[in-house]
Amino acid sequence: SVFNVSVAPPDALFGVLAAYKADPSPQKVDVSVGAYRDNSGKPWVLPIVKKVDLILKDDPTLDHEYLPITGLPDFTSSSAKLIIGADADVIKNDLVASVQTISGTGANHLGALFLSRHPPTTSSGPTTVYLSSPTWPNHKQIFANVGIVVKEYPYFDPKTLGLDINGFLGALESAEPGSIILLHACAHNPTGVDPTQDQWKQIADVIVRKNLFPFFDCAYQGFASGDLDRDAWAVRYFLSKGIELLVCQSFAKNFGLYGERAGALHVVSSAKEVSIAVKSQLAVLQRSEISNPPAYGARIVAKVLNDPALFKEWTEDLKTMAGRIHEMRKALYDKLAELGTPGTWNHIIDQIGMFSFTGLTPAQVAKITKEYHVYLTSNGRISMAGLNSNNIEYFARAVDSVVRT
Ligand code: PMP
Repeated sequence: SVFNVSVAPPDALFGVLAAYKADPSPQKVDVSVGAYRDNSGKPWVLPIVKKVDLILKDDPTLDHEYLPITGLPDFTSSSAKLIIGADADVIKNDLVASVQTISGTGANHLGALFLSRHPPTTSSGPTTVYLSSPTWPNHKQIFANVGIVVKEYPYFDPKTLGLDINGFLGALESAEPGSIILLHACAHNPTGVDPTQDQWKQIADVIVRKNLFPFFDCAYQGFASGDLDRDAWAVRYFLSKGIELLVCQSFAKNFGLYGERAGALHVVSSAKEVSIAVKSQLAVLQRSEISNPPAYGARIVAKVLNDPALFKEWTEDLKTMAGRIHEMRKALYDKLAELGTPGTWNHIIDQIGMFSFTGLTPAQVAKITKEYHVYLTSNGRISMAGLNSNNIEYFARAVDSVVRT
C-alpha cells in the first residue's frame, strides 16, 4: 500500500460509549457521555426546539441555499450578545468579530488555527497554549494539530477535590508573555469545579500583568447555574477590564442540538479596524475548511435568541435541565450518606454543571464497569445527566461497593 499507517487508539470517551451499547445487561448505566437525558434516561428534545422546528417547517421563505462564509448573521450577532451581554461596550463599539462554526469543537479549532497564523503580538517564542490539568481531552489535539505548543497549568487538587488556585496562579505567573490561556467559562469539564468570582479576579489580574491571552471555551452556558447571565460572568468580567480575548460558544448542550453543530467563535479586540481585519482573516480560514457552516441548528438558535417570548420559553427548558441535574446531585449525595460510603462526598453537591469528578480510581472504575455494568471514563468523571430516579439507588450501591473493596 502507499499508506504507511497503523491503527489509531479508539477515542477514550466514544470507546466507553460503544462498550455500553454492546452490553446486554438490563441494569446497565451510562454516565460517560456529556449529553442530557430526561428522568427516563432518554435524549430530550427541548420543547422550544420542537416548537421552532414546526415554525421553520412552515416558513415558505426558507430554502437550502448556502449560508455566508461567516454564517447566518442573525445567529452570530445574537449569540455574541448572549455570551457577552447585549449592553456591553464591545458590542456597541463593533469590537466583536463573530463567525459561525461547527459547534464548540469547530470554534476551538478555528480559534486555535487563527492564533497559529496570527499569534498574540506579545509573544516572542513559539505560540504556546496552557490548558487546565485536567481538561476536555480534545483541547490537546485541537491545539497540537495546528502546531501550537501545548502546556498545562495545575487546576484540580485531588486532595481537596477542589480548585488548586495557588498552583493555577503560579503557573500563570511563570508563563511566557503572549501565551494563550485556555479557560472554561463555566461548568469546567471534566471536574465540575469553577473558580469563585474572587478567584476569577485574581486570574484576570495575572493575565493582564503577564500579557497573557485568554481563550474562553463556553460549552455549558445556562447549565452551570441555570442562569445564562451568571454563567457568563467570567467572560463579561474580563471584558469589563478591557481585556482582548476570544470565546468559543457551543449550543450543543444548552439547546440539546448536539448533532446539528451550531456554535460560534467571537474574537474581541480593542479597535474596530482590528475587528474588521480579524473577521476577514477568519473568513479566509473558514473558506478553505468548510466553505460555509450548516444552516439548520443556527436557524433554530437565531429564531429563539431574537424573539423575547421564545427566549423566555428556552430559559424555562434550561431550568428544567439544570434543575434535574441539581436534584440528582442531591439524591446521590443523600444515598451515599445513607449507605455510609467511606470518604467525603460533599464535592458531589459542590461541583456544578453536567459533570462530577467522583474521585473513583481507575481500578474502581474498571470494577464498577465489569461487575455493575456502570460505564464512565477511567478518570472517574460522571455525567450527572445519566442518573435518574430509576437508577440512582443502583448506582449509589455500586459506588459504595467498589469504594469498600
Ligand atoms: N468544550 C468543552 C469543554 C466541551 O465539554 C465540549 C463538549 N463536550 C465542547 C467544547 C464542544 O462540544 P461540541 O463540539 O459538541 O459543541
